[in-house]
Amino acid sequence: MIPLSAPEVGAREQAAVAEALAAGDVAMGPQVAAFEAAFADLTGRAHALAVSSGTAALHLALRLLDLKPGEAVICPTLTFMGGVAPVIYQGATPVFADVDPVTWGLDPGCLPQAFDVARAQGLTVRAVVPADLYGQCCDIGPILDIAADRGVPVLLDSAEAVGATLNGRHAGAGALMAAYSFNGNKIITTGGGGMLVSDDAALMERARYLSTAARRPAVHYEHDEVGYNYRLGAVAAAIGLAQLETLEARVARRRAIFERYRAALSDLSGVAFAPEGPGRRHTRWLSVMLLGPDAGATPEALRLALQAEGIESRPVWKPMHLQPVFRDAPRVGGAVAESLFARGLCLPSSTTLTEADQGRIISVIRGAVN
Ligand SMILES: *Cc1c(COP(=O)(O)O)cnc(C)c1O
Repeated sequence: MIPLSAPEVGAREQAAVAEALAAGDVAMGPQVAAFEAAFADLTGRAHALAVSSGTAALHLALRLLDLKPGEAVICPTLTFMGGVAPVIYQGATPVFADVDPVTWGLDPGCLPQAFDVARAQGLTVRAVVPADLYGQCCDIGPILDIAADRGVPVLLDSAEAVGATLNGRHAGAGALMAAYSFNGNKIITTGGGGMLVSDDAALMERARYLSTAARRPAVHYEHDEVGYNYRLGAVAAAIGLAQLETLEARVARRRAIFERYRAALSDLSGVAFAPEGPGRRHTRWLSVMLLGPDAGATPEALRLALQAEGIESRPVWKPMHLQPVFRDAPRVGGAVAESLFARGLCLPSSTTLTEADQGRIISVIRGAVN
């Protein structure tokens, strides 16, 4: 089976884990602080907090806002559940807005209307949580401007965008806080983990405290509120540090995989590829192909043809407003997200994908399309 996006680990990670274990650094150790420092450096932030998942990072960020029932958070409808579930954990209501056809991130043009829709339903918007999808930065500038006008913070879900840049700044820049994921399928992994970053020392200190069960410094563990067990362990951090050293090579490899698909398949009618917006370095975490009506095959037909050859592919994220659990959620637009869901197919994009395997994927696609 050729997987969609497999973790790449090698001698570097093995050595890092062996070293951590030999030193007795299993749960706690200097690897955690070193990983946080390296990640803060990568993203150009003053503070970073290593946590157990990207979802946990975003949950902590939302918890810091003290969201209450009857309050709303504006989210893009095209995203993964991990970017939305924390809104529900906090008892708030997501308001879904459509995405931009180039960046596939939250469309700033939909934002003012999303505030209006929330108000019409008696909901106070407390935050905007855009996502950087498939390895590309959203249009954060105008989103920040609109949110600032309304007096609400932007928390950026950059879970899929480690290594991506916009105008030379790493994904997540500009937002009050940003969350990243090191899940097994992402561009770098800790086997499962995440990171929260910010320049605000007080917020990050509180996030750290909430991530370790909200213990006041007393030997008997004094609690005046309830927190979470969200910290990342030392072995996982050791793996993350080793992975981070190879991030640039990983981005280059994923981009090369994307360019080969594009070069080998763009002559087919009805076939297009995910655009790269202005000023951006798309990491091509996943190579996404779009099939129009004259492709002669639907994304689902192509997915099944690939599966029959032992090749994993996956549709573009199903828009949240089409998910049964969010049937009744307020929303603005959604046609762009629906069209991407209907036309898109994510192709195998692992850094470990061999030339020969990619050649085989390309011939199966050429056989199934047109
Ligand atoms: C992966 C992902 C998350 C969540 O990250 P986990 O580490 O899996 O919890 C959140 N949002 C998006 C868009 C993601 O792709």
